[in-house]
Amino acid sequence: MDYIIALDQGTTSSRAILVDGSGSIVGIAQKEFTQIFPKSGWVEHDPAEIWRTQEEVLQEVIREHKVEPASIKAIGITNQRETTVVWNRKTGKPIYNAIVWQDKRTASICERLKKAGHEAMVKQQTGLVLDSYFSGTKVHWILDKVPGARALAEAGDLAFGTIDSWLVWNLSGGKAHCTDYTNASRTLLFDIEQLQWSKDLLSMLDIPEAMLPEAKPSNSHFADYVLDGHQIPVRGILGDQQAALFGQGCFAAGEAKNTYGTGCFILMNTGPERQNSAHGLLSTIAWGLDDTVEYALEGSIFIAGAAVQWLRDGLRIIDDAKDSTYFALKARDKDNVYLVPAFAGLGTPYWDMYSRGAIFGLTRDTGKDEIIKATLESLAFQSMDVIKTMIDDSGLDLQALKVDGGAAANDVLMQFQADLLDVPVERPEVLESTAMGAAYLAGMGAGLWTKEDILARRAIEKTFSPDMDAALREKRCRYWKRAVERTMGWLDEDDE
Ligand code: ADP
Repeated sequence: MDYIIALDQGTTSSRAILVDGSGSIVGIAQKEFTQIFPKSGWVEHDPAEIWRTQEEVLQEVIREHKVEPASIKAIGITNQRETTVVWNRKTGKPIYNAIVWQDKRTASICERLKKAGHEAMVKQQTGLVLDSYFSGTKVHWILDKVPGARALAEAGDLAFGTIDSWLVWNLSGGKAHCTDYTNASRTLLFDIEQLQWSKDLLSMLDIPEAMLPEAKPSNSHFADYVLDGHQIPVRGILGDQQAALFGQGCFAAGEAKNTYGTGCFILMNTGPERQNSAHGLLSTIAWGLDDTVEYALEGSIFIAGAAVQWLRDGLRIIDDAKDSTYFALKARDKDNVYLVPAFAGLGTPYWDMYSRGAIFGLTRDTGKDEIIKATLESLAFQSMDVIKTMIDDSGLDLQALKVDGGAAANDVLMQFQADLLDVPVERPEVLESTAMGAAYLAGMGAGLWTKEDILARRAIEKTFSPDMDAALREKRCRYWKRAVERTMGWLDEDDE
């Protein structure tokens, strides 16, 4: 039997997923690692712990399932994106902890760059906005703050990488320093049309080119991992959201996936032409395969499953997220209650950081069932807003929405999503889209299967078909929009 192993290096855990030659998951090993919060708004990981947990789970899954190293045809990697590591090439030791994507310490650097008028150039070259989320300003911070770092970087002694690069460096025993186009596209340093590091952006952030990894197509042969004398090729790398898009089989322009977790991450494949958004969506690389590149539009929702957590932990009107279904089904079907979970402001397409959450349409007979239903519906309304923006900005038609993530298990939510979008919502049998994306790509590189095989073997567990008449849909969307508008500009600008 042939095997593929996907390494899924996430924000809270490192996992290794063993996939057999027929594309089925046969084993998973997982280890959590330490979240480091040195100050308010700062989030770090220890790169050594990331590598150690990742190598341990890789070896554990091989050992537990008694897999011969020679039968492992390839390793694929998917990873938390944007998280930044800088290490010394001579010693292989990081010079600072990994600065995690969530870390806000470089917000003031972003503000300064915006004031200096760099935003349009950044957007044009990278498809991104100037935000502390992306790697570039984190590298700048490390070079500025770690004593001696800049001189070492200029002498060519430091290496920068996102987590994929850090893993490949270690898997190859310090031989390979490279990344794939999807991870490069999240650094704020990569020109997503020229497919090379941008001299303008490197100079804007004062980062020496000598630190950068080689950026390659996502299905390259990146390195070899030697295990018991066998060389196992690393043949596929994709950032986590792009891996989920690939794992969901969204290979054609107009195909989209939504991951319903704490927040929602929505990506639409827009094909070989880059599409730009006038409403704050990101343009990003979906993947580079050999000498072709496909692009995606990406939008996210800050508060999705988190609103269900708020019902549980804040309001305490449910004991468990999945109980939301039971109460939502009991709600009166007057549909007059709207909950806008703008707990942290509003993103695409409204972009109002002064908006705050609210419930509208309360009457004497509103009870907890109606509030729970309105909360679930808010996940679908917010997703609809992002997806409609993608459709408008790209001019592409959406045929179906593929879903995954914890809250995609909720049938009431999925049916309502199909009703609002008026397209089918497809929930796959295997919800591990991210890991499967990396496994599929590595397996393609190893010659085990083709894109057609992947599409043929992807099983849909349930399709939710739209079942709402147009007049009702129009009315519900009208009221949602009205509710959103009434939350906007709630806070005074100088209020926190
Ligand atoms: P993350 O990867 O962001 O931690 P998960 O994909 O594990 O998130 O999904 C967990 C989120 O989904 C939680 O916010 C939880 O409230 C929500 N959730 C889980 N199950 C359900 C359900 N049946 N209905 C609604 N929300 C759910």
